[in-house]
Amino acid sequence: MNIVTTDSQSASSNCIANPNQSPSEGWKGSMRTAFRRLDDLAAYLQLPESVGNGVQAASDQFPLFVPREFAAKMTPGDVLDPLLLQVLPHPLETVSTEGFTTNPVGDDEATLTPGLLQKYHGRALMVTTGACAVHCRYCFRRHFPYSEGPKGIEAWGPALEAIAADQSLHEILLSGGDPLTLTDGILRQLAERIASASHVRRLRLHTRLPVMIPSRIDDQLLAWLTGTRLKPFLVIHTNHPRELAEDVAGALARLTEAGVPLLNQTVMLRGVNDNADTLIELSEKLLDLGVMPYYLHQLDRVQGAAHFEVPKAEGLQIVETMRSRLPGYAVPRFVEEIAGDTSKRVIA
Ligand SMILES: *Cc1c(COP(=O)(O)O)cnc(C)c1O
Ligand code: SF4
Repeated sequence: MNIVTTDSQSASSNCIANPNQSPSEGWKGSMRTAFRRLDDLAAYLQLPESVGNGVQAASDQFPLFVPREFAAKMTPGDVLDPLLLQVLPHPLETVSTEGFTTNPVGDDEATLTPGLLQKYHGRALMVTTGACAVHCRYCFRRHFPYSEGPKGIEAWGPALEAIAADQSLHEILLSGGDPLTLTDGILRQLAERIASASHVRRLRLHTRLPVMIPSRIDDQLLAWLTGTRLKPFLVIHTNHPRELAEDVAGALARLTEAGVPLLNQTVMLRGVNDNADTLIELSEKLLDLGVMPYYLHQLDRVQGAAHFEVPKAEGLQIVETMRSRLPGYAVPRFVEEIAGDTSKRVIA
């Protein structure tokens, strides 16, 4: 998520803008009524005024954005709530730290055409939009140059041509930002254009929408997602078991009933999930909901996120504890992304 430029500052509303829709309408209404001001979120959660101290520069760089559905899962009055910590601007974000950069995972070098990245054999990733349904403070793409990417379906021509020309591509990932902030009309067209390359077999979505705004999983979405020739996969992103409340369970059940396999990825985050009990409970809950734990990511070293980092040795111990207490399939692969590698690098 990049909110550094004026252009992308309005991205969250741009991509869903439709003046004919009433503000209360479904998931688009939720995007519009999300918290965008720390004052409002603090008042809603009854947080002390001190949470706003020293964070203006951080908010200017990457504005607060928290849907009400997510805020409702936080504990009022708790400034250390693990859900709140993921979204609350912090004074340390504007302090630069040795080893933390604006392009931590080699996205610039992996760009095939604007908006299309390939790092690994057989699969390529489309950065479909800069907009998200939440602004995660630790986001590795918080400095990504989204405003340089394609806008509108026609602008995707070069990326789609590159996909059509490369017979080795069996899977296309829709990522961002968050692809599910785009309208179903655009997503349907994109999926159809990708499917017209006969060598592509799978369409994978990486999204936080089912967790942040569960009403996003509606009939229109399921219609195009299950209506293409491509086998769909959906990867959600949760970091703490409390994110998986009833409303989220409902959205995930709809996807499962529609035959969409679900995977989860988590980022190891200081203060959020840096202990075995939390991550074990997260895996248990994911399995309850039919979601396979896929990756546990070591934090990408993006500038502004250093205070979230958990040393790798500590992470390893946590994963060892998880392995001693869970079935093998419930332990996600603990991985890090190293620019230039041919896959995510497995730590454990
Ligand atoms: C992480 C990533 C993928 C997906 O990797 P898998 O191991 O298949 O989940 C694909 N493309 C890019 C550019 C990535 O960063
Ligand atoms: S939803 Fe994903 S892309 Fe968007 S801010 Fe969060 S981590 Fe970054």
